[in-house]
Amino acid sequence: PKWKAPVVRDTFIKFFVAKNHTFVPSSPVVPLSDPTLLFTNAGMNQFKPIFLGTVDPSTKEGKWKRVVNSQKCIRAGGKHNDLDDVGKDSYHHTFFEMLGNWSFGDYFKEEAIKFSWELLTDVYKLPADRLYVTYFEGNKAMGLEPDLEAKQLWKKVGVPDDHILPGDMKDNFWEMGDQGPCGPCSEIHYDRVGGRNAADLVNKDDPLVIEVWNNVFIQYNREPDKSLRPLPNKHVDTGMGFERLVSILQDKKSNYDTDVFTPLFARIQEITGARPYAGKFGEEDTDGVDTAYRVVADHVRLLTFAITDGGYPNNEGRGYVVRRVLRRGARYARKYFNVQIGDFFSKIIPTLLDHMGEMFPEILSKKQDVIDSLNEEELSFAKTLDRGEKQFEIYAAKTKQKGLTQLSGADAWRLNDTFGFPIDLTRIMAEDAGLTIDDNEFETARQQSKEASKGQKKEGSDLLKLTVHSQNVLEEELKVTTTDDSAKHGREN
Ligand code: ATP
Ligand code: MG
Ligand code: MG
Ligand code: MG
Repeated sequence: PKWKAPVVRDTFIKFFVAKNHTFVPSSPVVPLSDPTLLFTNAGMNQFKPIFLGTVDPSTKEGKWKRVVNSQKCIRAGGKHNDLDDVGKDSYHHTFFEMLGNWSFGDYFKEEAIKFSWELLTDVYKLPADRLYVTYFEGNKAMGLEPDLEAKQLWKKVGVPDDHILPGDMKDNFWEMGDQGPCGPCSEIHYDRVGGRNAADLVNKDDPLVIEVWNNVFIQYNREPDKSLRPLPNKHVDTGMGFERLVSILQDKKSNYDTDVFTPLFARIQEITGARPYAGKFGEEDTDGVDTAYRVVADHVRLLTFAITDGGYPNNEGRGYVVRRVLRRGARYARKYFNVQIGDFFSKIIPTLLDHMGEMFPEILSKKQDVIDSLNEEELSFAKTLDRGEKQFEIYAAKTKQKGLTQLSGADAWRLNDTFGFPIDLTRIMAEDAGLTIDDNEFETARQQSKEASKGQKKEGSDLLKLTVHSQNVLEEELKVTTTDDSAKHGREN
C-alpha cells in the first residue's frame, strides 16, 4: 500500500514538527507515578502535570509549548475499557497507538482545528465529503456552555453545515478518568463507504462510520469531589487512533485488514495451521476462527507492551488486567486453533518485534523477559483451563435444565475462585452457550466468599486492587481485591 503504517505515523509526526512541535517519545503503558490510573489510556496522561500547572517551569517539560507524539495506550480496565469489544468489532483494540499534538497554553481552538483539517485533507488527502465533525452541545446541569466557537471554526475551514454535528457529555466532553484534566472536545469521524450523507450514523457504533480524531480543549480539572475546577491555562490535547487512520488510508473496512495486523495473522496461521484469516465478523464468522485471529493478535500486542513496561501478570490491579487478557486469549487460541497452551503467545512475539521494534525499541530489549513471563503464565493457566471448561459445561447444562438463561453469580464465582476464570472469560463462554451472567450477582458471591474467609487470609495493600466487574468506578478498583487461587502459580511483583 502507498500509506504503509510506518509512513502514516512518520507523516503525522513530521507535519507537527514542521509546525514547531517537539517530538516526545511515548511514555510507558504502566503509569508508575499516577496511582489514579490503571494503564496509560491516552496520549495526554504523561502531560498531566503540565495541564495542572504543577510542572517545574525550569525543567525541559516546563518549557514545552507544542508537543507531538505517538503514545502506546491500553484500554482494558478503568474508565476507558474496550476489552469486551475486542474480537467482535473492527476498530477497538485493547492496545493501540494514539497520535497526538499538544499545545500547552499556546495555540487553542482555531489553530488546532486548522491543523487537523489541513493534515487530513491536504496531506493525507482524505476526501472532505467523507468527514464529519462534532462539537460539544453544552450541559445545563453541569453549567457548561455549548462550544459554538468550535462549530464556527469548522465552518471557517470549509466543513458544510450538514457535516457539523452537536454531541453530548458522553461523546464530546473528554475525561481521562474519575479525576484529572478534562474539557469539551470536537471530533472527526470518517465514513468508510461514501456517496451518501452519513451524519445519522456518527457516534452510533457503526463500524463503517468511525471516530478518527479527538481534539480536546482542556480547561478544567475534575476534582476528587467530582466538581470541575477551571485550570490556570487553556490547552489543546488531541488523539487520533493510529490503526484507524491506517485502515482509512489503506482503504480497508477494518483495522485488521491493514499491515498493522496482517503479519500477525500470517504468523498465527503458520504456528497453528489454521485456515487463513477471512475478515468475517459476528454470525458471518461461522467457525469463530476470524474472531480468534483478532483476539489473539490484539492480545499479544497488549501483553508484549504491558510486560515490557513492567506490568507482569498477577492477581491484583494492573497485573490482573494482564492476566485476564492472557487467559481470554489463551482460551480463544485453544478453542479455535486447537493448540496446546504453554508457549503459544511467545511464538508470535518475533513477528511483532519485526514490525514494531523500530518505533518502540524497548520491546526488543525486554524480549526474553516477555517470553519467560508469558510462558510461565500460560503454563499455569493450562493446568486449570481444561477442567474449568468442563465445569462450565456442567453449570451451563444445569442452568438450561432449570429453564434459566442466566448463569448464577455463584457459579461464575466458583469458576473464578477454583479455576482462575476471570469474569470476562466466563462471559464469553456464557455468550457462546446462549447464556448471560449478572455482574452484580457475581460480585455478591465474591463478597460472600471473602467474608467467609475473612481473618484466614491476609489482605494485601490497599493500593491498586481491582474488581473484575466495575469498569467505570476507578475508585473501587483502587480498593478492592480479587481472590484467585491460581495466583500462587503466577508471578507476583
Ligand atoms: P470510541 O468512541 O470509538 O470508543 P473514544 O471516544 O473512546 O473512541 P477517545 O478517548 O476520544 O476515544 O480517544 C481518541 C482516539 O483514539 C479516538 O478518536 C480513536 O481514534 C482512538 N481510539 C480510542 N479507543 C480506541 C481503541 N480501543 N482502539 C483503537 N483506537 C481507539
Ligand atoms: Mg471509547
Ligand atoms: Mg467516542
Ligand atoms: Mg472520543
